[in-house]
Amino acid sequence: MTATACSACGTPGLLPHLRVRGDAGDQGLIPTTDAFGTALGDIVRCRGCGHMQLDHFPSEDRLLGLYEDAASEDYLEEAEGQRLTARIALGRIERHVPGGRLLDLGCWVGFLLAEARDRGWETTGVEPSGWAAAYARDALGLDVREEDLFSADLPVGAFDAIVLGDVIEHLVDPAAALDRVAQLLAPGGVVHLVLPDAGSRLARWMGARWWSVIPTHVQYFTRGSLRTLLERRGFEPLHVATAPKVFTVGYYLERVGGYSPPVARGLVAAATATGVAGHAWGPDFRDRMAVTARRQV
Ligand SMILES: [Zn+2]
Repeated sequence: MTATACSACGTPGLLPHLRVRGDAGDQGLIPTTDAFGTALGDIVRCRGCGHMQLDHFPSEDRLLGLYEDAASEDYLEEAEGQRLTARIALGRIERHVPGGRLLDLGCWVGFLLAEARDRGWETTGVEPSGWAAAYARDALGLDVREEDLFSADLPVGAFDAIVLGDVIEHLVDPAAALDRVAQLLAPGGVVHLVLPDAGSRLARWMGARWWSVIPTHVQYFTRGSLRTLLERRGFEPLHVATAPKVFTVGYYLERVGGYSPPVARGLVAAATATGVAGHAWGPDFRDRMAVTARRQV
């Protein structure tokens, strides 16, 4: 599908920005991919709001098929860091809503839901990957439905908080997704989005080599373009912050393999030898953002 208008503000006539079209390969479609600098189309830029997106989108059916098959054992070894990252997100949500029912759309293996449950939230998740949903249910005992994120059968107006963690940048129609979120939220409820910040200094400096330029990302939001989209869909942004991810040192160094496999192997070997490979590390590159927004009544 050729995109003729900006996904964030609707302005027609998108300008060429980065030539990154390439072949994804199977490895490129898992969350821990290191196929940096490759996308399913070239990236174009909106002259109105600065939003960036692919020049044409893969079909939603094709994307859903890829997510249904996604599996990544690597992620489970990173549980400690993922749970720490989740607690930061929950702290940000709880500044605006005290608790109640929390829905995680695209919950992957369920670490955020597990942390939320421990803090007293009543939790529900939706996850298209059969492997990830099964882990969330069987290993963590969570209520997670293996379905498409935005057509899953859920109670309308029932949730006090909805989390979209690393989701909206994958969506061909993010406006429709926010409309569905608005429908599911209770009055006064908030949505919490975590995503790469394509307007960050680092993203602009690295261009096509930025690690968030990967095959499954079809939208490249800036702080400004996300605010524009939220306001157009009836949300009031309450809080914007950077959102570093905590992983082990070894995991970060392995990702360097997306640029240079020999350098990555050397770094991992050195980190293992000195005993730091397993340490949790959350460097803030300031190229990821977390936005909390309230549904306008
Ligand atoms: Zn725009």
